[in-house]
Amino acid sequence: MIVDKTIALIAHDARKADMIEWVEYNSETLAKNKLICTGTTGSLIEKTLKNKDIEPEITKMNSGPLGGDAQIASLVVEGKIDLCIFLIDDLSANPHEADILMLLRQCRIHNIPVACNRHSADLMVTSDLWGTDYLPSVPTYTKFHRNDK
Ligand code: PGA
Repeated sequence: MIVDKTIALIAHDARKADMIEWVEYNSETLAKNKLICTGTTGSLIEKTLKNKDIEPEITKMNSGPLGGDAQIASLVVEGKIDLCIFLIDDLSANPHEADILMLLRQCRIHNIPVACNRHSADLMVTSDLWGTDYLPSVPTYTKFHRNDK
């Protein structure tokens, strides 16, 4: 079971209903972890969990279009996010497309699991690897300087 991890949660407007259903379904799991969210998504998740008598440990960053995705990308770079659930609206143009791509790219670069749909998110939070001594590989990128090396 996943516990004591930091989970980033972001949902675009057209996916917020999906996110709320997902949060309701996984509320017991989310109660055991730290949540980092973009602003509006975070407020909705907080309300949803409080309605289930769960007091979440939640940090709300800026709203996505005002840099929330960029702030979460920065936490990924700093190694402060364990997994990311990012329900993207693939059917609309977003004003902050560059930030969305940046967050996805930084998750790929730093080997952070990222789910962009509910099925992947369900599989990810129920993985048997959580709670074992499994250690994800740390990409080295020897050509580039990393300040944690
Ligand atoms: P929001 O941002 O949670 O503030 O709506 C999400 C996004 O658009 O990336």
